[in-house]
Amino acid sequence: MLHRSIPHERFEPTVCTWHCHNHGCRHRPRLPSFLTGDRGAFGLTIATLGALGRRLSAHPGRGYGLANLAVFCVGWPLVTLALWRKALSLGEEARALEARLRRP
Ligand SMILES: [Zn+2]
Repeated sequence: MLHRSIPHERFEPTVCTWHCHNHGCRHRPRLPSFLTGDRGAFGLTIATLGALGRRLSAHPGRGYGLANLAVFCVGWPLVTLALWRKALSLGEEARALEARLRRP
């Protein structure tokens, strides 16, 4: 589903909805609060995306959406790709070093 703006949903007592995303979650988290809490990684992520979004656009929803796309559709995959390339490069170096050390 493609959203053109941040959805506004009502609070549902049994599941998280966009209400939790937009206003903070009142549900009992299943993961530790340092990950899921509004003051944990989740809340920090949302606040950071909001701050980045305000720098990208004066329109609050548009900037937040752009920030999400920039971070999770461009930045995150690029970092993952760079880490994969580095891991493969280190593996090749390790194999070459191992081959050199095995030579008599
Ligand atoms: Zn929730």
